[in-house]
Amino acid sequence: MICEVIAVGTELLLGQIVDTNRAWLGEQLALAGIDVHRGQTVGDNQARIVASIREALERADAVLLCGGLGPTHDDITREAIAEVLGVPLVVDDEVVARITAMFEARGRRMPENNLRQAMVPAGATAIADPQPGTAPGLICPVGPGGGKVIYAVPGVPREMKAIVSDAILPDLRRRAGTSASIVSRVIRTWGESESGLAERLADRIEALDRTGNPTIAFLASGIEGLKVRLTAKAGDEATARALLDAEEAEVRTILGPLAFGIDDDNMETVVAAALAARGWTLGLAESLTGGLMAARLTDVAGVSEVFRGSVVSYASDIKFDILDVPEGPVVSAEAAEAMAAGARKLLGCDVGLAVTGVAGPAEQDGQPVGTVFVGMAVGEEPPTSRHLRLPGDRRSIRELTVISALDLLRRRLLEEPAG
Ligand code: ATP
Ligand code: MG
Repeated sequence: MICEVIAVGTELLLGQIVDTNRAWLGEQLALAGIDVHRGQTVGDNQARIVASIREALERADAVLLCGGLGPTHDDITREAIAEVLGVPLVVDDEVVARITAMFEARGRRMPENNLRQAMVPAGATAIADPQPGTAPGLICPVGPGGGKVIYAVPGVPREMKAIVSDAILPDLRRRAGTSASIVSRVIRTWGESESGLAERLADRIEALDRTGNPTIAFLASGIEGLKVRLTAKAGDEATARALLDAEEAEVRTILGPLAFGIDDDNMETVVAAALAARGWTLGLAESLTGGLMAARLTDVAGVSEVFRGSVVSYASDIKFDILDVPEGPVVSAEAAEAMAAGARKLLGCDVGLAVTGVAGPAEQDGQPVGTVFVGMAVGEEPPTSRHLRLPGDRRSIRELTVISALDLLRRRLLEEPAG
């Protein structure tokens, strides 16, 4: 089964938006065992979209278009598909009812334009967005034998992912006749390089290479650490998941605290959950990150239970006057510890976490760019600190500071029994 993806949108060609949809689709199709040999990006022009679809259909069994399904005049994917299939667009009453109901539920008037989304090429099936959105996806069999198929999904990543996962991948699998269930899980790690991880996991990788199932792969995700992806295949989903569970346990035993979460976890959700499990509250004192750490923590829903606040003590005299940091160099272990203790006391919490350092571009207090001190004050214990040397420009130093400091807190929390 060969599938080709066509991303539709002039903004993509002009570089105004980055095509993250095709990257995600490529990964999902590969995981589903569907071959992808070629791909295209085409602007919002009907003749060119038609030509792209025709070309792709010559090479592939399935063509998946993303984008251009919305209600506006430049959304012409459905017209292009109808032209390729040589069929008219017809009103799908179910879609009309769904869109009308959605606008009614929100108490808003429905613009006439939205009914465009209820037009489907004759013979096609509309797939409702399982999350509330308006543009349905389309499954359009090609020709009478129904040998080939054209799919269309909205460009908005959240809607695209939902429709592809829930309806298109299962449909592709059914057509490909692969009844195997393929599931995958990502183990998120922090604190080790790709080659370092490969070295630690070398025996495991070799063992898996021999059996071929599950498989293991590394994915770099920028400053967010490295991901280890496990993929298992079995006759049914429960068996595949059991294989994954067993392999995850193996990998976690080897990686220990380097593994901080799975799938959609990130450092701040993991830290928030670890604090909650221990009934601890957190307060911050941020210098070089200027509130970035607080911003990331407050992205986590329900974090108010454990997060008290942050003192953005950017200027030295704020550190001295508000946090009771003794006068002296502010990029130092002593300053970081005093900031952590000060934040803990001022914000009335169990743990104070503080960062001070040099984000650049110029050095400060004789300390080179990338020098960062992380201070931590836990209960009545004497505060501690860590000295980090972080690489990159100002932006990456600030972001690495946030994730490194949260990771130090996470590791400290692991020493404490969870309630
Ligand atoms: P809408 O109903 O929002 O109009 P649509 O199916 O018509 O959906 P587009 O108009 O092509 O989709 O794109 C809508 C938005 O989705 C874009 O502004 C962009 O933010 C995002 N988007 C579209 N295509 C991609 C892509 N290939 N990768 C990432 N984001 C995309
Ligand atoms: Mg649109």
